[in-house]
Amino acid sequence: QELIKRLEETIENFPDFPIPGIQFKDISPIFLDPKLYEDVIADLVAFSKGKIDAVCGIESRGYLFGIAIAVALEVPFILIRKKGKLPPPIVSEKYDLEYGSAEIETREGQIKKGQRILIHDDLLATGGTTEAAAKLVEKQGAAVAQFSFLIGLKDLNGDQKLEKFGAEIYNILEY
Ligand code: 5GP
Repeated sequence: QELIKRLEETIENFPDFPIPGIQFKDISPIFLDPKLYEDVIADLVAFSKGKIDAVCGIESRGYLFGIAIAVALEVPFILIRKKGKLPPPIVSEKYDLEYGSAEIETREGQIKKGQRILIHDDLLATGGTTEAAAKLVEKQGAAVAQFSFLIGLKDLNGDQKLEKFGAEIYNILEY
């Protein structure tokens, strides 16, 4: 509706960035418009209200919205970071990229057993990063209750990778 239209007008598209064939969506203009940012947070908060015990945000654009969702819902926020940034003890999960592999980590003990977790990121593409984040959550005895994104890229079928976690999935915008 109205929020979708404002976001479509604000997010900038860059063909062939960072490599040929990729259409990059730049969300940074959202932060030039505090009222739009507030309305995006309100929308994401409405989706998760009463359904989660903690938010996990994926580095780095997942932090820009994830922390505000957690504060609004008065629940903990846990940083999922790329390898090598967090002091030990940590819990980690490896996953495959188009070329090679990557690893994400959380501090041990920040996710509690039995918690219902929202995993949040700005954009769902192939779902590889988010799938690894969900495995990292489940490995620590918590349940993935929800996934939320500003943008879902339909053609890449990321949501199919997430189906097995049995969680709700929400994108404000779909392309
Ligand atoms: P996936 O693992 O689903 O293939 O990729 C999703 C990750 O890549 C997210 O963390 C997201 O921030 C980043 N990403 C991939 N493409 C884009 C893009 O076009 N715009 C933005 N903002 N992030 C992207």
